[in-house]
Amino acid sequence: MISEESPKLLNVIEAQNRIIPNFSILDSINLALMNAQNYILSKDIKAPFDLPEKDNSAMDGFAVRFEDLIQKKSTILDVIGRVGAEDKIELTVKKNQAVRIMTGGEIPNGADCIVPFENTDSGPMRGLDYPKKVKINIGVKEEDNIRKAGLDYKKDALVLNSGKLLDAPKLGVIAAFGINNVSVIRKPLITVISTGNEVVMPGNKKKPGQIYDSNSFIISSAIREAGGNVELLNIVGDKKEDIESAILRCDKSDLIVSIGGVSKGDFDLIKDVLLEKGNIDFWGINMKPGKPLAFGRLDLEGNTVYQIGLPGNPVSAYVCFELFIRPVILKMRGFQKIMRKKIKAKVSQDINNHDGRRMYVRVKLDQKNGEYYAEIYNNQNSNILSSLIFADGLAICPEDCKVVKSGDQIEVIMLKDWYAKKYKKW
Ligand code: AMP
Ligand code: MG
Repeated sequence: MISEESPKLLNVIEAQNRIIPNFSILDSINLALMNAQNYILSKDIKAPFDLPEKDNSAMDGFAVRFEDLIQKKSTILDVIGRVGAEDKIELTVKKNQAVRIMTGGEIPNGADCIVPFENTDSGPMRGLDYPKKVKINIGVKEEDNIRKAGLDYKKDALVLNSGKLLDAPKLGVIAAFGINNVSVIRKPLITVISTGNEVVMPGNKKKPGQIYDSNSFIISSAIREAGGNVELLNIVGDKKEDIESAILRCDKSDLIVSIGGVSKGDFDLIKDVLLEKGNIDFWGINMKPGKPLAFGRLDLEGNTVYQIGLPGNPVSAYVCFELFIRPVILKMRGFQKIMRKKIKAKVSQDINNHDGRRMYVRVKLDQKNGEYYAEIYNNQNSNILSSLIFADGLAICPEDCKVVKSGDQIEVIMLKDWYAKKYKKW
């Protein structure tokens, strides 16, 4: 057992390996298609019919027979009717006949190509009108401007396999097949408990010495950005019984995230509850910021619920969220790739590592001539919120590295999608 006085600090990779394997992909639920955005599909979708279902016109114009126009530069045809995109086709085009047709209209029997209006003497008309005759001014090829049935998807073809994230185009494809209910992996429910006598929710009066609760906002929003559902509990004071009663209400949660109460001084509160109600796996990670992180497991109403105790300092809490909670959320949601992208970047100034901990340095990334550069924020303390506003990356200075010299390459975790930066001048 780790001693309270000098807990053995785990290295980050070991801590990730102790946390992440405890979580598995969650069960599937059925959702209305309109509510399924950003969920992972959990059953393959096959095409129930050809898409498009019928041969149809790619242009507004006239459906004609190639045979009638062959090698002729100018031909007059009798127009026998009109087909709109919504019509069921009853017409048959015979020798020297044409049908006026709208984009998406089903190709009438007998017709094998479409001549756009622009290549006839008949322009667009309002309503259901059509001319008696039309002069075609152009030679055509068979199948000109015809969208063949099944060109997009053939009946029974695999449209989307399970594991795909439902984004706008995928939802559109599913809708095109008339499917309005999909099987998806549910999103985890994560309870966030912010602790501390000194913390107050924005909107309330604070007494001298108190501070506003930024962590509940940072961590709840980060959870939602990663696709988790959040249950935010009221701030719990530094009283063991209060923390305990808050935690005991979490039997339906997929993960409890507590904030604060894990550093020296109030350290015992989270740990004590974890010890009494379940098990504590570890507390203390050899990293900066974020050393006092606790991980444990509780038995709540017969359910095993894991708890990650984040440090109270907002920067520590956020960095620990990135390393230990975001991957767990993505894993539960069914993602294959659960870690952020890492790149190599040249640092703008020296990084000195005095105490042999793995440092996560807040940096701003830039790209010039295909190379990344990382500008280091001037204050790296764990309570400096402006460092989080500045940063779009976390540069990693390993435990055994005493100094990274200005201009040296270093590994950086990208916190944001790069395209968001590319268009920053807009
Ligand atoms: P703790 O881990 O509870 O000892 O907290 C460490 C530091 O983080 C203290 O300075 C706390 O005041 C601060 N802190 C704790 N919780 C929050 C919070 N929810 N929002 C902002 N700062 C916090
Ligand atoms: Mg506290």
